[in-house]
Formats: sequence, C-alpha cells, structure tokens
Amino acid sequence: MRKGATQREGKAVRASALGRAREGVPAKARPAAASAPSLKAKLAKLGIQREFDLVLHLPLRYEDETRLTAIAAAHEGAPVQVEGRVIDSQIAYRPRRQLVCKIEDASGLLYMRFINFYGSQAKALAPGALVRVFGEVRPGFFGAEMVHPRYRIVRADTPLPAALTPVYPTTAGLPQSALRRLIEQALAHAELGETLPAHIPARFGLPAFRDAIDALHHPRPGEDARPLIDRSHPAWQRMKLEELLAQQLSMRLHYRERKSKTAPALKAAGALTAALKQRLPFKLTRAQSRAWAEIERDLGASHPMHRLLQGDVGSGKTVVAALAALRAVENGMQAAVMAPTEILAEQHYRKFSEWLAPLGVQLTWLSGSQKKKARAAAAADIASGATRVAVGTHALFQEGIAFKSLGLAIVDEQHRFGVQQRLALRAKGSAAEGSQAAGAASAEPHQLMMSATPIPRTLSMSYYADLDVSLIDELPPGRTPVTTKLIAAERRDEVLARVRDACREGRQAYWVCPLIEDNSLTPEAAAAAGRTQRRPSRQQAEALQLQNVIDTQARLAAEFPELSVGLVHGRLAGAEKAEVMAEFAAGKIQLLVATTVIEVGVDVPNASLMIIEHAERFGLAQLHQLRGRVGRGVADSVCILLYQKPLGELARARLKVVYESSDGFEIARQDLLLRGPGEYLGVRQSGAPLLLFADIERDLELLEAARELVPQLLQEHPECARRHLARWMAGKSELMKV
Ligand code: ADP
Ligand code: MG
Repeated sequence: MRKGATQREGKAVRASALGRAREGVPAKARPAAASAPSLKAKLAKLGIQREFDLVLHLPLRYEDETRLTAIAAAHEGAPVQVEGRVIDSQIAYRPRRQLVCKIEDASGLLYMRFINFYGSQAKALAPGALVRVFGEVRPGFFGAEMVHPRYRIVRADTPLPAALTPVYPTTAGLPQSALRRLIEQALAHAELGETLPAHIPARFGLPAFRDAIDALHHPRPGEDARPLIDRSHPAWQRMKLEELLAQQLSMRLHYRERKSKTAPALKAAGALTAALKQRLPFKLTRAQSRAWAEIERDLGASHPMHRLLQGDVGSGKTVVAALAALRAVENGMQAAVMAPTEILAEQHYRKFSEWLAPLGVQLTWLSGSQKKKARAAAAADIASGATRVAVGTHALFQEGIAFKSLGLAIVDEQHRFGVQQRLALRAKGSAAEGSQAAGAASAEPHQLMMSATPIPRTLSMSYYADLDVSLIDELPPGRTPVTTKLIAAERRDEVLARVRDACREGRQAYWVCPLIEDNSLTPEAAAAAGRTQRRPSRQQAEALQLQNVIDTQARLAAEFPELSVGLVHGRLAGAEKAEVMAEFAAGKIQLLVATTVIEVGVDVPNASLMIIEHAERFGLAQLHQLRGRVGRGVADSVCILLYQKPLGELARARLKVVYESSDGFEIARQDLLLRGPGEYLGVRQSGAPLLLFADIERDLELLEAARELVPQLLQEHPECARRHLARWMAGKSELMKV
C-alpha cells in the first residue's frame, strides 16, 4: 500500500493504473473530451482508457451540498455549505498577499481567505455578490474563516443540487469539476443494461446495475453517507460482485485457454525416476508422493502444466522437482531449473548432481557471474541438447541461451522473480518450437513453480486462480521444532554465550546481518512495484551491508578465537561463495556470518542456531525463511531474533507474528493483513486483472460466491459471460496471458 494516500485512495489509483493503463484503445471508445494529449494522459493515470471506465470511476467520498447551514451554526471540523452576501472584499498584503472576503447571512459573519487567486476572482467577489461556499470553518484572526473554500456565485433562486456531490479519486492537474463533467457525459449515454442473468443479483438482494451506478454517482440527499463511504452499501456490493465475477471469469477462461495449448506429453517412459526414488537415502513423505503424483499426471498430458508446488520451508520440494526433471529427460527432452540467487542455484546444482549424475544424466551450470568462456560452453551444450538438465539463475532465460528441446521449466521461489523473467521464460518455450522430440510443432514447455511462501487462501482463490497448486503439508520425519526467542540487542552477551555453547557441543550457527536500507525499498518491494531498483541506492545499501557483515565477522572472530568464523555475502565470487558454503556444510566453519544470501533454500542439517541481527528490519516471509535454515537435523534448534529498541508498530507486529507462529501459512496470512496484497502480486501484476473495488479479505463471501457462479455462468449463460467480460475487462485480455 502506498503511504500517504488514504488506503482506499491508494488502492483505487494504483490498481487502476496498473490494471488498465496499458492497452491501446480504439479511437471510437476514447472519452470524447480526451483529444488534448495531456487530458488523455491524466485520465490514463487514473486507469481511465475507455469511456466506460469513466462510468466505473466511482467516488471516494461525498460532500453534502444539498443543504445550507447558517453561518452561526457551522462548527469546526466538519465541512459545511453556507450562503451569504459579500459585504467586503480586499487584497491584503500582510503577512502576505491574499484575498480576504467577508460574507454575511442572517445569522452571522464569515471570512474567506485565498492565498492563491486570480484577479478575476477578486473582481467577481465584489460586495453585493451572493456566494455559496463549501468548506471547513476554523477560527481565524478576525473571526470564523474558511481558507480556500470552494465557492460559487449564485442567484437567490439558484437551486441546490438534488444529490450528494461525489468526490472522485483524481490526479494533479485534473480538477474535480472537470472530472465530474466527463463522468456525467459518459453516464448520459453509457449502456447500463444488465449483463448478468437476473437471478444472480436477486439471490443477493442487490440492485440492478443501472441503479447501483446511479446510487453511487448520485446518492439521494439525506442518504446516510457512511455505507457509501465504507462500501457496505448494496450498490457497492453490486459493483464488487460484478468485478469479482469478471475477474473469476477471466481467470477461468485463461485457464481453459492454457488447457487448449499443446505441450510435449511426458509419459512415464523410462527407468530414471524409479531409479532416483530407489537411490534416495529416505522415503518420500506422503505429501511429497501426492504432489509428485499430481505433477506426473500433468506432465503426461499434452497441454502445458502451470503448477505451483507449495510447501513450507524444509518440506522437501527439491526432490519432487528432481523427479519432474528426470521425467523430461526420460522423454528425450531437457529440463531447466532456475533459482533466484546464485547460492540457491548453486545448491540446487550440487543436489541435482548428487542425485542425477550417477544416473548418467548430463547437467550444466549456468549463471550470470560465470566467465565468458564457461558460459559459452554451457550455452553450446544447452543448444546442442548434450545438456539434459540445466541449473542456474535467471541467466538461463536470457538472450543467447536456446534450448534444443525444453520440456520442463522449474522455477524455485517463484515469487521472487519479476514479470520480465516470467516473460522470458515463456519466450523460451517458443524458441523450442522446432523441436521434433516428444512435442508438437508449437509446443510450450511445462512449468513447475515452487514456493515456500504460501499463497493465502484468498489470494489463491482470486489472483492465482488460474494456477494448479500442489501442497506439501507435512515435514519429513525427524525434524525438531525451532524455538524462537526475542532478545533486545543490549542482551547480546547472553546470545554470544549461547553461540559458544552450541559450537562447543559440535553444532553450528548462522549469524545473519540485515540489509541496511537507505530508502526502505527492499528488492522484494521493488519487484512487487514492478520497478527495478534505482542503481545508486541499491549499491549504497549493499556497500553498507557489506561493511557491516565484514565488521561483524571480525568482531565475532575476535570474540571466539577458538571457533572458525566464516563469512558469506553477495559480493563474493560464485566460486568463493560455493567454497564457504561447502566448508560450512562439511562442519569446517562453525559460525557463519552471512547476509540474506542464505535466506532461501540453504540446507545444512547440523546448524541448529540462528541469530538474526536487527530482526526488526526484516520482512515476515524473510524471517520465516531464515528461521527455516535451522531445525533440519536432530538437535534442538533455536532462532534468536535480536532487535533494536525502540520498535516501530509494524516491526513489533511482525516480530510478534514470527514469535507466535511457525506455520508458514499463518505467517503468510498475517503478512497479507499487514502489507496488503500488493507485494504478493509482484509476479502477477501484469498477469492478473486487479481489483479496484472488492477487497479479497473483507469481501471473502462475495469472492466465494463469484467463484461458485462462474462455471454455471459459462455453461448456461455464455452470452452473459461474454458481455460481462467485455464491460469489465475490455482491453485487458492480453494482459491476462502472462
Ligand atoms: P524445501 O522444500 O525448503 O526446498 P528441501 O527440498 O531443501 O526443502 O529439503 C530439505 C531437506 O530435507 C533436504 O536435506 C532434503 O534432502 C531432505 N528431505 C527431503 N525429503 C525428505 C524425506 N522424505 N525424508 C527425509 N528427508 C527429506
Ligand atoms: Mg527449496
């Protein structure tokens, strides 16, 4: 949620700008007065592209100009409308140039003050003029005054408006009055008939579409404004249901469309998957087996799988991914495994090599930090098909990398990748078009996405409704629950003692230092906002973090001369990083000081103590991920959240959640409540139609209803469904395909 703007304002403006401001719109559909490019651009900022978008541009709040209040009865703090005759009007020069205008009605006197004004205004507000003034009264130097009120010169018989005055979300340079006029024009000839079969609104006791629109743009005088403002009014409910139905319909159609595309059917063809299962030192958990069965079924079909494998930190997603990769190999096709960080990709490469190389599968490593020559060799193997499984960072899907026959793309920690990378991934599918292997001519690769950040139910019902989801809801046996402790930084000595004890007993510990932010823009937040981070600030932050982590390592090494204290951070070269991690995994390093590079996926079972410094600076998902690095072996594990006082409200709330819960789903739910859905949607934002009016948490009942109604709507009223989508989604369909 954007700070500063009210929540609703922020949501409405941002969501609409993202959701709608992209498509070209046929000239005919453009708002009539949008001929000046600047107006068109301003409207686009508000998400208004078509004339109908003006109809759907609903007020944030209302002002009551249907009544006049006596000047003497106008109280501070609430906006009122008064009417009076100008009895004096002067341009004053002290303390600065301003227009001061005294008006009078039967009950009293009021000053209007304008710091900015035109000469024409001063002229019009001459003594004798009758003005209707809307604003808030406050005590001034001479008496009650309104500063910069809205006013209108009227005649004694000028009628009062018959409805509350809507206040619309707007943007700089577009005054309410102009926006109102445009909306009124649009309303005058918009087609407001029903798109839904009558029984749907009837079932919920909701008004007709036309009536709902009218009630929201022109509420009756005397109408209680509260349900209109908090959006509980039946007219709002109708709009929310409309919008949710459109979203659910489009997600459903998107899903169907994918099912109609072709992908290579990867059959249970060879012995590789069976061989891997046999060689594993453990048995798959029931949840892993179930997930694998679901994936296996999808891979065997001849349309692209888009499946999200969800499982809490440590639930064992990697081995399921390895089985899937082998299934592609068994079918003579390639698989690609992509991870968001080099350390994680490297770890996957090692894990996959350990599991797959003995089966004779050729693996290839590819990353951005690789030397040119190594990279060219990797690219050549990938292109010739010698590579069966390629593992790496997003460099895998950059230009210059062409797969001979990509059957499956596996994306770990998918929520960390941005839109661009998802697009690149899709493009690789078409690059494999010429492939004569198992697939048809225009085959797309299957996609398996993995995430330890569970998507809260409301999100998976809405924005993620087009994905299939497999859930690993069980941890492998023998895990010990992690005890979480919150300790203020001044008690650091106690923490040091714990570290010493743990290492003396042969266990290992992580010491994680925070990213020091100069503008509180985390990479996740930046990705979520669809921006790449501004270079200088990112670099500064990294430099600070680097210094901090190096200092911390030096201090801890001095503190514990008897221990081997390692250091890992993002600036180390890939090989160095890998070496440190290998030493830690082998127990040669006892205490590892690290940045968040170890946040995802790192797996060293003997590490049982996690210290997170400045825990108050981390996000909820990050804290949960970091904590998940311990509790992987037999020893009792502890995660210590060291925090610096004083704690801000949000930081306190986050720490409380992590302290109280170890359930990834609960944490994700709380995270959603604390942050709003925006940041979850980093990957989705260009793909999923965003909601302007409905709030998936607050309007859960309507969301559920919409979801239930969609199959019936498509089945029994396809024409209604088509019209409904056209009304709500025109121009957005392309966006839904990402
Ligand atoms: P995540 O789901 O967080 O990616 P990993 O795939 O890294 O988890 O698995 C965590 C650890 O659990 C790894 O060491 C992995 O080898 C191990 N593991 C996975 N499945 C099982 C299982 N069924 N039984 C025992 N250990 C398992
Ligand atoms: Mg993992």
